Amino acid sequence: MIDFPVIFINLTSIAVMGFVLFAANRRRDKQAATELSIASLFMILWAVSSFAEMLSDTFEMKVFWRNVTQIGVFMTPVATLMFILAYTEYLRSHRVLIARIAYTYQSIAVLLILTDFLHHWVRISITLSRSEPYQVVVVALSTFGKFLITGNFLLMLFALVLTIIAAFNSLRATRMQVYSVLLGIVVSLVYACIKVVSGEQFLQSVPISGVFALSGFFMLLGINRFNLLKLTPLAYEHTFRFLGDGIVVCTSDAKVVDANPAARTMLESNLSELEEHLKHTYSHWYALVLMGKRTNFAIQFKDRFFNADLFPITNKRMEPVGSVTLLKDITMLEEQRLLLTERAEKDGLTGLYNRQTFIERVEVELACATEASHLLYFDIDHFKKINDTYGHRAGDLVLSELGALLTRWTEPKSITGRFGGEEFAVFTSSIDTKQARLRAEEFRKLVAQHLFVHEELELHVTISMGLASARTESFDQLYRLADTLLYQAKDEGRNRLCSGQDAGQSLQ
Ligand code: GH3
Ligand code: MG
Ligand code: MG
Repeated sequence: MIDFPVIFINLTSIAVMGFVLFAANRRRDKQAATELSIASLFMILWAVSSFAEMLSDTFEMKVFWRNVTQIGVFMTPVATLMFILAYTEYLRSHRVLIARIAYTYQSIAVLLILTDFLHHWVRISITLSRSEPYQVVVVALSTFGKFLITGNFLLMLFALVLTIIAAFNSLRATRMQVYSVLLGIVVSLVYACIKVVSGEQFLQSVPISGVFALSGFFMLLGINRFNLLKLTPLAYEHTFRFLGDGIVVCTSDAKVVDANPAARTMLESNLSELEEHLKHTYSHWYALVLMGKRTNFAIQFKDRFFNADLFPITNKRMEPVGSVTLLKDITMLEEQRLLLTERAEKDGLTGLYNRQTFIERVEVELACATEASHLLYFDIDHFKKINDTYGHRAGDLVLSELGALLTRWTEPKSITGRFGGEEFAVFTSSIDTKQARLRAEEFRKLVAQHLFVHEELELHVTISMGLASARTESFDQLYRLADTLLYQAKDEGRNRLCSGQDAGQSLQ
């Protein structure tokens, strides 16, 4: 008969190991948890079969269970080593190869033991000896058998060395956990060593299941990494609260769940206002939240610009449950970009488009013009004289003031540009040819009557103009005509307008 305490210890230990298996399996997302599940599965097999062996009363049954035990005996060390490799992340690229070799090697040992006509390669004899208080199966191993068993020790030793190295190299936050795994390995190894020294009797006083329960429990603690678990939510909280970038969390039906202080400040709204804004003001953003796709877009709020990055959130089954939008204030960048664009597109002295941009803009207009277009091209008369008589700065003043006059005079739909040194151009397609001529003549008179004052000197300036009108898509065609007409105006005595129409090419 077996004592009640022994049964109790065995059953309790097996229950603990069942818990380890269950807990490791539930935490499969944790590093090495799957490997721990496999190892504990083999430990359970080992513990249950050796308990069954203890409970069996016939020699055959005892031998049967002893054979089943061998699966656990040979597979547990490999599974434990695989767990340690996954846990420590050592030999990452060789892990699969190591698993294949070790599992195959150990499987051969198990097959030899379980095969009737081969098991004597491993065992010389199996006898039943009466050692108080139970009858115990005593196995005498062959040299080959001892060699195979030594392999188990080596695997465990290898696992131990790796864990010691990992413990040395571990960070403070995870050190306790690595030590816990180390303890788990040491407990098993120490038990195995004592067992070898003391023989089979030891099995009865300290059941293997008890050892595995302890060992597995320590390993489970190791994968939990409770310090990090405590720290991570705090880290999230701090990042959320103190990050300079805005974070807005929405459900997949665009309800605003949370927004960090930065986002609330950026968009000057609390949670419920934000939800309203999302629906009515930022319909683009709203649509993207509903779509739940990873996107990058721009948002403008008052005079501020934001770069928004939307990341979908999915649950474990990869179903969309919401999204998080990161907002970055790029107002300064945007202002710099606008400034650079303005500098690249506009002439610094007059604020009008430079030649290049003027032509580009006009070409866009010409491409969709249906009526006649007009290009007014004019040049200051004897400008060189102004420079020579009053100095270059006087010339500059005339140029900038003329630019200002032109801007005030032209209607918003027109495109104005400084075409060259003292040459200007105005493009319009919203008025007819007659009106264009009248308007140009009006401007010529305006300039002629205008007083340009430089350092108390009053300067009179006149301009000569060429006005080309045509139904065309070609800027060159308009420009050539306007240029010819301008030269005609110069030839005819300056301070005048020459206009003309090109009927050569007409719009389709
Ligand atoms: P015309 O009546 O035939 O047009 O004679 P003009 O003297 O106006 O023509 P010309 O082409 O001989 O001279 C243009 C002058 O404009 C020469 C150049 O020094 C001056 N100029 C060009 N760009 C600038 C500028 O940005 N500032 C100043 N002050 N002068 C400029
Ligand atoms: Mg000139
Ligand atoms: Mg000129």
